Amino acid sequence: MTTADNQTDDRPKVLVVDDDMAGLLMASEALESAGFDVIEAEDGLEAIDQFDKHNPDLVVMDVVMPRMNGFDSCALIRKSEGGEHVPILMITGLDDVDSIQKAFEAGATDFVTKPINFFLLPYRVRYMMRSAKNADDLRASQIKLGKAQRIAKLGHWEWMLDSDVFLWSGECENILKSSTLGENLEHFLETIQEDDRGLVANALERARTDGARFNIEFRTRSGNETDDTRIIHVEAEPESDLHMVGTIQDITERTNAEEQIHNLAYYDLVTGLPNRAHLYDMISLALNRGNQNSNKFALLFLDLDHFKQVNDTLGHNAGDLLLRQVSSRLKDAVRKTDSVARPDDIEVKPLTETIARLGGDEFVVLLDQVDRPEDAAYVARRICKELARIFILDGNEVRITTTIGISIFPADGNTAEELLKHADVAMYHAKEQGRNGYQFYSQSIHQLALERFALERDLRKTLETNGFHLEYQPKVALKNGEVTGLEALIRWKHPERGLVSPADFIPLAEETGIIVPLGEWVLQTACEQMVSWLEAGIPPFIMAVNCSSIQLVRTDMAKVIKTALDSTGLNPAYLEIELTESLLLQDVEEGIAILQALKDLGLHVSIDDFGTGFSSLSYLKRLPVDKLKIDQSFIKDLTTDPGDAAIVTSMITLAHNLDLTVIAEGVENAEQLGFLRAEKCDEIQGYLISRPLPADVFAEWMIDRLEGEKKAA
Ligand code: C2E
Ligand code: MG
Ligand code: MG
Repeated sequence: MTTADNQTDDRPKVLVVDDDMAGLLMASEALESAGFDVIEAEDGLEAIDQFDKHNPDLVVMDVVMPRMNGFDSCALIRKSEGGEHVPILMITGLDDVDSIQKAFEAGATDFVTKPINFFLLPYRVRYMMRSAKNADDLRASQIKLGKAQRIAKLGHWEWMLDSDVFLWSGECENILKSSTLGENLEHFLETIQEDDRGLVANALERARTDGARFNIEFRTRSGNETDDTRIIHVEAEPESDLHMVGTIQDITERTNAEEQIHNLAYYDLVTGLPNRAHLYDMISLALNRGNQNSNKFALLFLDLDHFKQVNDTLGHNAGDLLLRQVSSRLKDAVRKTDSVARPDDIEVKPLTETIARLGGDEFVVLLDQVDRPEDAAYVARRICKELARIFILDGNEVRITTTIGISIFPADGNTAEELLKHADVAMYHAKEQGRNGYQFYSQSIHQLALERFALERDLRKTLETNGFHLEYQPKVALKNGEVTGLEALIRWKHPERGLVSPADFIPLAEETGIIVPLGEWVLQTACEQMVSWLEAGIPPFIMAVNCSSIQLVRTDMAKVIKTALDSTGLNPAYLEIELTESLLLQDVEEGIAILQALKDLGLHVSIDDFGTGFSSLSYLKRLPVDKLKIDQSFIKDLTTDPGDAAIVTSMITLAHNLDLTVIAEGVENAEQLGFLRAEKCDEIQGYLISRPLPADVFAEWMIDRLEGEKKAA
């Protein structure tokens, strides 16, 4: 029973349901003449059939009908396919509030009451259709937006500031990898990796107080087993004091892609090392820094000798494998050099390094902050040694050697090109000299480095062959002229260079760590000498031994001294250790603890070269020491320079106020002696009394002096 069959499709379809034939007819006519297609049904059940068949754009339905009433029919239509959003107009009895309520519960969109004004009905229907269409459009665009956001991995959120409630769009849970996105700030922050949490919290807080929008990136917390960290871009815009809106977007893929592009442009594919472009950047940075604070840096240009043979005989895969192994050994060699070749706790700044592959078998090492060119030579030597070890490539043993050219900024150039070119030139020189070695670009630097290494080698050899000896310089008390002690001073008679001053080789011994065994030798020898003098009946005095702060920091000095005392049987009361202030420069508390451990052994401790370091008065009084040795630089011009005179006077007063003995070193003439005596300095040491003497000469000197004293008495 329909009139719709022969109608065209573009007219809107209305299903009219009423068991009252007159009502049905009136409604149909009104609607048809207003341009609608009308489908009719006489009760609720038929309405469902017709709805399925015709999929109308709107339903007008009476409430009271046989077989199935309007409420049930309406509810069923809502549940049927396509029936969710169709507008349904219910016809209820006038003033029947109950029915109106029930109609809405069944899902009706609107209602009209009987008697129906058939003239107005089409307008009502048209109006309902228009608002249904708006709702449809909105739904469609929401679906599109959701889809677009899903594709863009974009979510949006709102934050009610007063109640701290967060509202999240559907995509947010996917983005934040959280199935339980909570409703407040704390829950949001929990989805963020700990390191980044503060950043986001601060940005939100600032936006909240300043009203300023922001956009930042953070990483999500990764799962326990797998690393599924995502990188999220968050944008926020405060809308009012109470409301902030924003978006989050997963930009992991984009970031990774950017990183990949960067890696391709800046890293070598075979070894993963920085490539030439990257190296140039690093050199520019080093140049900037170097120009700013006059830091030196070095470029080591490496070329593997006979790499081509490996490629030709074992193939390119083996060649690549070799390059990778070379790069990892290079990293080791450069890193190790810093801590192994030199003690790591003296004033050596860490070398920061870049290792790059230029292509083929050429590598470059950039050593930043190389104070002395020899440091670069240390690294070069270690690299040659490391790379000379056998490589195993697919079961084949391969040996290669390396040749290295070194250029130093600023001596060898002011630009990356120049420095690289000169390192390259130096490398060719080194090849001419016979491979597996290194060469500085500048001859004078090369010469210096060679000399230093020769000296270091000789130092070690002399130590092994027991080629050092000690001299002894007496100290005398001013009040009675008695010899109170001796200072043991090391002497090195080099077969070619003659006497080398300790001022020249002690610093090298410190830098190379040789000072540790060397210092033990001095201590042992001085203790033995003292014991043999005491046994020979010389009147007792105190033997002072110099001790470098490197020894104190790097070894358990108390134990070393104890060993020397035990093995020689020397009474600790006859031993004094002279230390410089540099020990105390680094860590005062630790310095004090070390000194106390020495004092606990029962020996004397003095501060050598006092006045040249930076001892502050505040901790000087806390130091467990017995004596201050005023540095000879103050004594030198004591009688001509009023400034030095004033300093010496106040150092003597200071020592006495602190209950310390004070001694002046480097006293060469009677005027100096006169001044020191007048100022009540306790002791003196210097050429005026005696130069440092070999043991046997000192013994004679002492006997002469004692006899002189006897005669005088
Ligand atoms: P120092 O401990 O301050 O030793 C005093 C230096 O002054 C000695 O130089 C000594 O020969 C010199 N001297 C003594 N009287 C006079 C004088 O009247 N006039 C002048 N111009 N100089 C005088 P030396 O023996 O060349 O030693 C230099 C420095 O080397 C020492 O300074 C000490 O710091 C270090 N040193 C020497 N032997 C050892 C040692 O066995 N171990 C350690 N760690 N350092 C040592
Ligand atoms: Mg000394
Ligand atoms: Mg001194």
